[in-house]
Amino acid sequence: MLQCPFEEDLMDAVASGRWPHGAGTELRHHVEGCELCRDVEAIAAAFLEDRDCAWNEAPVPSASAVWWRTQMRAREEAARLAARPIIIAQATATVCVFAASVALAPAAFDSVRRWIAAFGATASSVPPEISLSWIVGAAAYTTLPLLAVGLWLVLAPVVVFLALDD
Ligand SMILES: [Zn+2]
Repeated sequence: MLQCPFEEDLMDAVASGRWPHGAGTELRHHVEGCELCRDVEAIAAAFLEDRDCAWNEAPVPSASAVWWRTQMRAREEAARLAARPIIIAQATATVCVFAASVALAPAAFDSVRRWIAAFGATASSVPPEISLSWIVGAAAYTTLPLLAVGLWLVLAPVVVFLALDD
């Protein structure tokens, strides 16, 4: 016999704590004579005892600790939500600055070249072969800090997001 019609009733009685005194006499008489139900009773009782032990031994944090953790979690969530528009605004500003610098680079380069030509015309001590490399160097010296600032503008929100995201 693999199943017994009283098995469900017996498990309900054990789980609800009505077994054996609170259960009906018909069920108790059946369990006395049914080997399967005696096994079910023993196993269910062992499981319930184990559950009760785990329930009693479980470490419950204090109410203040739970409250503090809830507050911290709410604060982190609020900060994460508040940082999202800032990240979008910084990314948009970075893209705009990059596009503007790309669009204005030829004009700026022309004015720098004109300025250098004017400077070279007045100060004859500047050798003419230096002007091209000097322009490249000056361009590098002016664009590298801009690139660093742009990189920082892009990476800072990512770093903040990762730090807040555990
Ligand atoms: Zn049975």
